[in-house]
Amino acid sequence: MLIRYLPSGIPMVSVSELHQRAEILRGKTVFLGVTALSAAHDRLVNPYGQNVPGVAVHAHAFETMARGRFLTPARDVTVLALCALFAAGAGLTFMLLSGWLGYACGVIMLGVAHAVPILFFRNGVLFPFFAPVSVAWLATAGAASFQYFFVRRQLRRSESEKSRYQQAIHWAAHEMRTPLTAIQGSSEIMSRYAMSEEKRHQLSEMINSESKRLARMIQTFLDVERLTDGQMELKRESFTASEIIDVCLKRVQPIAERKKISVSLGAPVDGTLTGDRELMEYAFYNLLTNSVKYSPSGTEIRITAELHDGDVRMAVRDQGIGMDAKELKNIFKKFYRTKRAEASGEVGTGIGLSIVEQIVKHHGGRMEVISEPGKGSCFTMVFKAHASASSNAETANRRG
Ligand code: ADP
Repeated sequence: MLIRYLPSGIPMVSVSELHQRAEILRGKTVFLGVTALSAAHDRLVNPYGQNVPGVAVHAHAFETMARGRFLTPARDVTVLALCALFAAGAGLTFMLLSGWLGYACGVIMLGVAHAVPILFFRNGVLFPFFAPVSVAWLATAGAASFQYFFVRRQLRRSESEKSRYQQAIHWAAHEMRTPLTAIQGSSEIMSRYAMSEEKRHQLSEMINSESKRLARMIQTFLDVERLTDGQMELKRESFTASEIIDVCLKRVQPIAERKKISVSLGAPVDGTLTGDRELMEYAFYNLLTNSVKYSPSGTEIRITAELHDGDVRMAVRDQGIGMDAKELKNIFKKFYRTKRAEASGEVGTGIGLSIVEQIVKHHGGRMEVISEPGKGSCFTMVFKAHASASSNAETANRRG
C-alpha cells in the first residue's frame, strides 16, 4: 500500500505531557510508541521532506486506510499523452517563436514539466517524475539547438547571397562605366570639334557598338529575374542543333584563338528542336565562352551533338580547370563562382549558368555536367528531339 502522508503531520503527545494534553486524544485512535528522539536511522523522510518516526508511519498508514484516500499510480496512457504533449510543445514553441521569446517559453515549459508530478501527487496520483521531465528537457534542447543552427545557416546563406549579389552589382556598375565613358567621350568630341567624315564615322560606329554592349549587359541582368519569375515569353521556332552550334562556334572562334585554344566540332546531327532560337544560342554560347574562359592556352574544346534515345544532346567538353563534386552542386545557383574560377583571374558574375539552366528547363530539357578538378569539364544540354517550349513556355506566356 502506498501511504498518503498528511502534509500537516500526525499530532503527537509526549507521555510527560499526557496530563495537560489528554483532551486532544479524546475520540481519536491513538498509537503508542517508543522512539528515540535523537537517534538517527529510525526515521523515515516522507515525500514532504518531513522526518517521520516509525510510530507515526503507522498512524499515517491508518489514516490513509481510514479515510480511504489511497495513492494511485498514474495510468500509462496519461503519462504517454503528457510526454507527447511536452515534445510537441517544445517543437511548436521553437517553430513559431524565435530568439529570446522562444527560449523564455522553453524555460516555462520545463518548469511546468517539473511541476506536473507534484500537482498529480497532491491530488493522490503518483506520476513518474523522470519520464515527463526528461522528455521535456530533451525535446526543448533538441528543438532549441535545431532552431539555433537552422537560423544561423539561413542567415549565413542569405548573407553570402547578398554579398554575391552586391559583388555582381559592383561588377556590373564597373563594367557599365567603360562603355558609358566611351559613348560620352565620343559624342562630346563629335559635337565640339570639327573632324573628317571618316573620323566621324569611326566615332559613331564606336558609340553604336558600345551602346549595344551596354544594352546586352542590362538585358542579361534583367533576363535572370524575368526567367526566374516565369515572366519571359518564349518564341516557338523550329531549328536544328547544328544551326545553333554553327552560329556559336563562329562567334567563339576569335576569342578562343586569342587564348590559343582550338575548338573542334564532331559529326553533325539533324536533331530538330522547337523553341526560342535566340535563347538557345545564348545558352550554348555561354557554355562555350565558359569553356574558353576556364581553360588554359594550348588546350582543346570539343563540341558534339548526338541523337540518342530520342534526345538531342549538345555537349561542350574542355580540358580546363574543372570542378569538384561539391562545387558542381552549386554552379547553377545565381552568383556562385568556384574558388578556382576566382583564382583564375577571369572576370565573371556567376549568373550565366543560372540563366542557361532556366532556358534549358523552360524548353523541357535538362543540364548534365561531368567535371574533374584540373582535368576539365563537360556540359551537356539534353532536349527531347522536337523539344518544344510547350508546357513551360505556355505557362511563362500566360503569366507574361
Ligand atoms: P561566370 O560569370 O563566373 O563564368 P557562370 O554562371 O557562367 O558565371 O558560371 C558559374 C561558375 O561555374 C563559374 O564561376 C565557374 O566557377 C564554374 N564554371 C562554369 N563553367 C566552367 C568550366 N567550363 N570549367 C570550370 N568551371 C566552370
